[in-house]
Amino acid sequence: MASSLAKRNIVIFFISMSLVLLLALGVYASNRLLTQWLLVRGLEQAFIPHKNDIRDILQTLEEKRKRQPPAHLSGLRLSTPETSSPHLRPDQFARLKDSLQLNSGTSAVVDAAVVFTGAPDPVGGVPDWYENNLLLSPDDLTKARAALTSNKALTAIPDMTWYGRFGAHAIMVFRPEDASEAMPGLLVLVTQSELLTSLAQPMRSITAAVGGLCLASFVFAGILLWMRFHDQVRTNRNIQYLAHHDTLTGLPNRAVFNARLNEALRLAQAKASNIGVMLIDVDKFKEINDTHGHGIGDVFLQIVGERLTTVFANHLVARLSGDEFAVMLTTTSDTGRMTRLATEMIAATAAPCVIDGREIKLSLSIGIARATDGSWRATRLLHCADLALYRAKHSGRSTFSWYTPELDAEAKKRKEIENGLIKALKFDQFHLAYQPQYSLKDGSLKGYEALIRWEHPSKGTIRPDVFVPIAEDTGLIEEIGTWVLNRACFEAAHWENTERRVAVNMSAAQFVAGESHKRVAQALQNSQLDPKRLEIEITESLLISNTDAVIETLRQIRDLGVSIAMDDFGTGYSSLSYLSLFPFDKIKIDKAFVQNLGKDASTDAIVTSIVGLGRSLDVTITAEGVETEEQAILLSAAGCDLVQGFMFGKPDTVEKHEANFPVFPLNTSGGRWFPQIQAARQSSQKTALPPKLSQYATRMTKAVDTPPSEPSA
Ligand code: C2E
Ligand code: CA
Ligand code: CA
Repeated sequence: MASSLAKRNIVIFFISMSLVLLLALGVYASNRLLTQWLLVRGLEQAFIPHKNDIRDILQTLEEKRKRQPPAHLSGLRLSTPETSSPHLRPDQFARLKDSLQLNSGTSAVVDAAVVFTGAPDPVGGVPDWYENNLLLSPDDLTKARAALTSNKALTAIPDMTWYGRFGAHAIMVFRPEDASEAMPGLLVLVTQSELLTSLAQPMRSITAAVGGLCLASFVFAGILLWMRFHDQVRTNRNIQYLAHHDTLTGLPNRAVFNARLNEALRLAQAKASNIGVMLIDVDKFKEINDTHGHGIGDVFLQIVGERLTTVFANHLVARLSGDEFAVMLTTTSDTGRMTRLATEMIAATAAPCVIDGREIKLSLSIGIARATDGSWRATRLLHCADLALYRAKHSGRSTFSWYTPELDAEAKKRKEIENGLIKALKFDQFHLAYQPQYSLKDGSLKGYEALIRWEHPSKGTIRPDVFVPIAEDTGLIEEIGTWVLNRACFEAAHWENTERRVAVNMSAAQFVAGESHKRVAQALQNSQLDPKRLEIEITESLLISNTDAVIETLRQIRDLGVSIAMDDFGTGYSSLSYLSLFPFDKIKIDKAFVQNLGKDASTDAIVTSIVGLGRSLDVTITAEGVETEEQAILLSAAGCDLVQGFMFGKPDTVEKHEANFPVFPLNTSGGRWFPQIQAARQSSQKTALPPKLSQYATRMTKAVDTPPSEPSA
């Protein structure tokens, strides 16, 4: 990079030097050419006033020649003040010289003259001019000869070498316009140096002006070029920055992180165990974005980036994608220190993020992996950290997990399930099991909850707890959910008893705002099931994100005549607050509460208040996971409406449930509990709800000691 820049600078230097040289040459050449032109003009101008005089001399010569033709020579004859030629005697030369004695000062002084008598070679006769005295170059004489034969009357030929050096002389070539064949031409050797000297000063000024102008435009062009170049360099630098950084947080991006990690691992070799990677994911970022808008989401991510760089000050922090960050730890040799850093990071999320006056909870999940020897590659380290992150996410978030080799097996299993699910859909390996729901009022069977089962060809029945979360992660839940909905409606429509209702679970991941109600309507239409018999169970996780759109869709489903139940009530963060958002038809108390009934006073109190709440809101309360008599009695005493649980029937075929227990099964526990349930219920209707259900239950068990009797259906 640096060497290519140096190379470029050298090239630029040479190019500009060449340009300066070229410029200087151009200025010099223009100076010479202009000087030559001015010289020619000057000489010719000086000669013109004497044209007639010279013409007279030439005429005299011509006449003389006619009378006395030269016997021995034709061509040019040189005359100087000292010599005489057959054509031009010294006195004639003196006259010529006199008549050519041009304006003194800047005059061209005649040094010699040659009369051309029409012979073919004017040069042959003037050897002294150039060979001996080196007055003129052969070139100039060639030009002179050409001028003699041309049609031009007067031509000045200054002596100038090819590289622009001016000699002391010039040749004036004169041949009268209307000269006859016999009329001789005249070559006059004149001194040009004086004229040259007089031209020197203005030429200097002109050259300086031209040179200055050229230099100025050169500098201007240079500045323009430099500015362009500078702009380009800046743009390149920006492009480089953008290519390596995330514009939102200013942190290095994935490409930089990967490159640095590869490099660190390559250099570390034996000390690779010093290198660890943390993958950090913002919990429920989508919800933050959906709830508060993308602007606040962006600021939130910037805050996350700042907190990360504060905690991991001496390490490389990068933003890999949307809400995923990574840290490369290169100097931490033990797992204890890495764990401490992760703990510090989780602790650093405790301080609330306040953006535009809104307080947003920050929660991060962290997956950590460390190289153990020099064989580790960046891809593997990142993959392991990713597996650890997955575990952190699925163990309740806002925590960190270390990579362990078992995670590979889990991931493999997940992958297998994912692939298996695609086949299961294709080869019809799903079926529905139905769990009955009974009324605590009269023991009648009210309906069923449809629960999906996967009949795997080699692994047997796989429970939804295993595959539904994976289907949710991969998006397959949409297709599976639609299948469940259609199948449940279709089967329920064919049940013998057309009073029984059917409940279908719909997970947040399969809920598509604006789409889901169409799917429900489609399933009802296809199956011709009475909408009143269908119930959709949703969990509060659905309401956390994009609440308005979800509520709108729920309303649309409800408008079809379908009822909506809130499942797993009490397990989420704010189940109660969601009750005010939507008029649910039913609340299902989660089995975690039911299973603690009678054991823990606060659970009793919670269940009692949920039932009380249901009553005041006129919402049906179902308790799920009812496994014991005591739970049933307590729920009945609390005023709960419906029960569902292993005690009343495990998920199975509808035919079996219908044949065996159209009403409460009476033959368990000596058949003594049903009247107790009834009695408990009657008592709860007479009195206010008891504060401690457990004491009440004990009292009830003792008080009621009647033999089993047939309950009324
Ligand atoms: P869920 O909606 O809370 O369903 C009740 C779960 O509790 C069922 O487990 C049921 O077998 C179990 N259960 C019922 N009575 C008792 C009991 O007395 N004791 C105990 N310990 N458990 C009881 P299952 O069928 O394994 O389903 C587990 C979860 O999978 C369901 O929880 C539901 O969230 C999900 N699921 C099941 N079917 C579907 C479906 O078709 N679609 C979607 N989206 N989720 C489904
Ligand atoms: Ca359910
Ligand atoms: Ca449930």
